[in-house]
Amino acid sequence: MSESLNLFRLQKLDSEIDQTRSRLEEIIRALNDDRRLKLAHQQHEKAQEIVRKARIKLKQIEHKVETQRIKRKASQTSLFSGKIKNPKELQDLQMESEALKRYIAQLEDEQLEAMIDHESTEEKCQAAEDNLKQVKAQLVQENAALIGEQSKLKVSLKRSLREREAALQSISHQNQTLYLQLRERKRGVAVASVSEGGCGICGQALTPADLQTVRSSIGLVFCSSCGRILYEG
Ligand SMILES: [Zn+2]
Repeated sequence: MSESLNLFRLQKLDSEIDQTRSRLEEIIRALNDDRRLKLAHQQHEKAQEIVRKARIKLKQIEHKVETQRIKRKASQTSLFSGKIKNPKELQDLQMESEALKRYIAQLEDEQLEAMIDHESTEEKCQAAEDNLKQVKAQLVQENAALIGEQSKLKVSLKRSLREREAALQSISHQNQTLYLQLRERKRGVAVASVSEGGCGICGQALTPADLQTVRSSIGLVFCSSCGRILYEG
């Protein structure tokens, strides 16, 4: 078997290994990424806080209405008790009762508004809670798929690494070093297949002599432009 074919096979395995490793890193990142969950939690907590405030406001206004009603009831009672005879005093009491009636009506409007507001904050909180549940369920599903993919990739990585070890056996130490240096300089791709008489990576055309050497499998031919080892399958 020619050295260029062995190097080409090694390159294929290394590219696969690179790809698998980069996907495995992506999976780890995705599994550790809890931004969506955190955001959903924050939104839910914020909505709960808003409900809490709206509830306090509603309770306060309810208490106010109740207090004023008691006050008015007391003033009505004295008004109709027959105990107060002084017309001026009776008139004052009458006026006070009327004023309280208007104030209570105003407070009741506020109470209604507070009730509507409270209800709407509760609806929003429910929506935030539903969203949180949905995000959690979605993550469980996504993570299960990622973990499945991860275990498959780990198996395939092991196999590729074993195959790589075997492939190295048939390559001279000198060419292994050359290959590794090229791989480092050429963003992971040291071997290019010849395509239509040119380098399959950069497109540089081969001289007829080079093409013949590549085909004859004697020694290595390098692309005159990108410097990669050439192989013709
Ligand atoms: Zn090239």
